Amino acid sequence: MNYYGEYVTRLIEQFGKLPGIGGRSAQRLAFYVLNMPKENADALARSIVEARERVKYCSHCCNLTDTDPCPICSSAKRNKNQIMVVESPRDMAAYEKTNDFHGVYHVLHGLINPMEGVGPEDIRIRELLDRINDSTEEVILATSSTVEGDTTAMYIARNIALRNDGVKTSRIAKGVPVGGELEYVDQVTLAQAFKSRFDMNSGKDSEDEDN
Ligand code: ZN
Repeated sequence: MNYYGEYVTRLIEQFGKLPGIGGRSAQRLAFYVLNMPKENADALARSIVEARERVKYCSHCCNLTDTDPCPICSSAKRNKNQIMVVESPRDMAAYEKTNDFHGVYHVLHGLINPMEGVGPEDIRIRELLDRINDSTEEVILATSSTVEGDTTAMYIARNIALRNDGVKTSRIAKGVPVGGELEYVDQVTLAQAFKSRFDMNSGKDSEDEDN
């Protein structure tokens, strides 16, 4: 049954493809857009098209960026041999806000989640392992303290140990609540979790030398 005509139906269908948007929300968004001033609707459509055209994945860290390498990877002030592994660009932004980390990142764009059918090959783990070499000083696994975050961290640590035995692998520690999503943890807690990270392969604490 098509109550709304082809164009409205198509718009509702497109909104319905977004995560967390059910049929009713899709209708509400479609009608909202149709009632917007035309220039606002144009700006919305244009920003989607332009973002899709211009934004790419950084060839070093896989973060979303307008320029390749991204500003962090191309900054002379960042230590390229200290890599912090995060789940998403939002987690990266949360760590950047603490101003405590001066290395570079690697964005996985997901976590291993067998229940949802997400395996290691579905996220950017291959790209991470390919980046790591003998000059890498430390890989900090900063995925959340969830089952998926821990599984992903352990998988990566094991593979680094197999391929690059001398590379230190640490895991962010205290402060991040169990089951906590990194994005919602405050900056002080996040900075503390980073400072009190522990070595995954030896079990020793790995406090920052410079504090
Ligand atoms: Zn980058």
